[in-house]
Amino acid sequence: MSGPWRFRLARFSLLKRRRIEACLPNLNEGLKRIEEGDFGFRFSPAKQEKLTLCQEAFNLIMDKVGKVWRREKEQREIFERLLSEVEEAVAVTDEAGKVTTANKVLRRLLAPVRPEGKYIGEVIRSTPFQDYFSRLKNSSERALSEEEIKLGERFYAVKAIGGGVYQAESKRIAIIMRDISREKNLEVIKKELVGNISHELRTPLTSIKGYLETLQEEEMSKAARAYLQTIKNNVERLERIVVDLLTLSALENRQEAREKEEVDLRELVRRVFSQMEPFARRKGLSFRLEAGSEVPPLCGDQFQLEQMLVNLVDNAVKYTDRGTVTIRLIKKEDEVVIEVEDTGIGIPASHLERIFERFYVVDRSRARRLGGTGLGLSIVKHIVLLHGGKINVKSQEGVGTTFTISFPQK
Ligand code: ADP
Repeated sequence: MSGPWRFRLARFSLLKRRRIEACLPNLNEGLKRIEEGDFGFRFSPAKQEKLTLCQEAFNLIMDKVGKVWRREKEQREIFERLLSEVEEAVAVTDEAGKVTTANKVLRRLLAPVRPEGKYIGEVIRSTPFQDYFSRLKNSSERALSEEEIKLGERFYAVKAIGGGVYQAESKRIAIIMRDISREKNLEVIKKELVGNISHELRTPLTSIKGYLETLQEEEMSKAARAYLQTIKNNVERLERIVVDLLTLSALENRQEAREKEEVDLRELVRRVFSQMEPFARRKGLSFRLEAGSEVPPLCGDQFQLEQMLVNLVDNAVKYTDRGTVTIRLIKKEDEVVIEVEDTGIGIPASHLERIFERFYVVDRSRARRLGGTGLGLSIVKHIVLLHGGKINVKSQEGVGTTFTISFPQK
């Protein structure tokens, strides 16, 4: 580069540096105000002068930063408002499991302990809660399904949700706890009420039935005899409902099987098989038992397990008009499986999810005609759960149904 050009360029750089240096004190002032949380600082032209490039750039950046900052602030305010207004107790923990945010409801619940900065397991002292929390912490899942947990005298529906997509964030966990004690207590009252009413109905029903049977021995017209028989059928139906309701309420009051004894499942299925065989034969069904393999004894309640299987086989026979009903006992690697399969009318897919609910029947008139109460499968499910097992059903309309129960082997 020739001499004059070099000179001009040097002059230009010098001028530029001076202008930048001229705005530096102001820039420092601006940065200080930002540090203090004031995003309102802008350069304004002094007298007739124009803003330097650097000042203009600063103003532009500050406009943008200010906008982002205001949006962030607004979001944070909405978040905080929501947190303080919701009825659920909410906590957010960092990757170490320490509480970083706790809302008003949670603080009230834990008072006088202040949860912020403490490990969540330290402030919510419950083994089921800690297990639930660790399950999400140690898994790659984004959230766990809601779980019912008792804390002190109250019941909570607890939900844990994991953090965002980034690795560090993904270990942040939000805990939401809804107090469901009221619903739980109502449920208990309802169950007690049903239990008490059923109990009270039992004696008068037995008495009515007794008098009906005595009446039936009297001379009467054909029509009167038919009416009496209808009354008796209905009393018997009521009796069955009362017995089933009493069984259900007794099962619901237990956390585990009543008698803990060693139950020989092979013998149990054989007993139920011979007990139910006459009913199957009477309907012209083929009735099969496949219980070849030895299975280890199950620790549980003999009476309940028998009732469970009788209910399933009774349904299989009831809802099958031709073909086969099969009871299977299978030993698997770490579980014992009982299957009841039939080639009956099947259950439409839309009903499958609900058949274990109390009083749920697919076809009310058919259930009534066959003497069903809609409580049999509820009882079965309760017994299975009390024994730590699982129950599944597969069914196809017009083809048949298979109920599969599996008990884990310890
Ligand atoms: P119910 O006393 O009416 O049989 P359950 O609780 O035992 O009551 O069964 C509920 C309903 O499920 C029945 O009404 C029936 O519609 C259906 N169901 C149960 N088992 C079978 C089966 N093996 N085949 C077809 N439908 C069945």
